[in-house]
Amino acid sequence: MTSDYRCPFDNLLIVDLEATCDKDNFDYPPEIIQISVRVLNTREKVIREDLSFDKLIRPVINPKLTDYCVELTGIDQESIDKADTFPEVYDQFSAWLKEHDFQEKRFAFVCDTRQDMWRLAQYQFLLNKQPLPTIFRQWVNLGYHYEEDRRKAPVQDTWGPSLIEKMSGFYNIPFDGHAHNAKDDCAFLAKITKYLLDNGKLVTINESLKCISGMRNVPFTVDPEWKGNFESACKVFQAILPLVSTPTKRYFVEDYYGKCLYCFDATCTGLEHKQYPAYVYEQLKEPSDLAITAEITFFLFPPLPC
Ligand SMILES: [Zn+2]
Repeated sequence: MTSDYRCPFDNLLIVDLEATCDKDNFDYPPEIIQISVRVLNTREKVIREDLSFDKLIRPVINPKLTDYCVELTGIDQESIDKADTFPEVYDQFSAWLKEHDFQEKRFAFVCDTRQDMWRLAQYQFLLNKQPLPTIFRQWVNLGYHYEEDRRKAPVQDTWGPSLIEKMSGFYNIPFDGHAHNAKDDCAFLAKITKYLLDNGKLVTINESLKCISGMRNVPFTVDPEWKGNFESACKVFQAILPLVSTPTKRYFVEDYYGKCLYCFDATCTGLEHKQYPAYVYEQLKEPSDLAITAEITFFLFPPLPC
């Protein structure tokens, strides 16, 4: 195909994050332990094999990885012990972006789901008591493209248990390496992104963060077993994390990039809007470790005036 890619960004930065985790406990505070980034130059139509950002990150709250996490990610404790902490790696990442002239609004992140930005990045910056940088407030969710293509496909098949396996089967693009290792996931997702663009798809931001969501005003019954069920846990996180992810059908880069899509403020953290799900906390049989660790329960338990 000779026509230009349908993408408003010079570069797409395919990103994958891995975080600390424990078996059957989705309330485990997820600290980012690995970041991988691959670059797809959309003007040259190439995945830059000469350029990537791959770092391990040393967690602080739970410095020792669980056996489950080691097995899932293929990351060993010895390498993690030698790694820098998140603020240090984030500085290195910012310097890397600058060095390669990846400017805001000229690139977008690409992820396989909403989890990396909405849950992991947002949570990590809450832990570090820093506002979520503008570059993490919107992204391309490849899962939406897969769902759309799958709906149109003549044969419906589940293909595999994880989204990556499903995409690999559906698009007939082999996955190489260790699933749930950011480096290998990222290399695979870059190939999927290129495949979509090669086939004439418009690839632009299709998910963004905002501080208020209509769905958060609709009370729901918390699954008593939510800590052990990913879908139930995500419902709780959707209520208690300050910023909510929202699909965006038409995205105007100049007007929207970096901003909260409710108040259009680039510094919005979601914490000041008080769309606070008291009904969720009332239903929790025991407190959420994740919420307590990030100190996002303060609307219910306001600090005493000093
Ligand atoms: Zn806002």
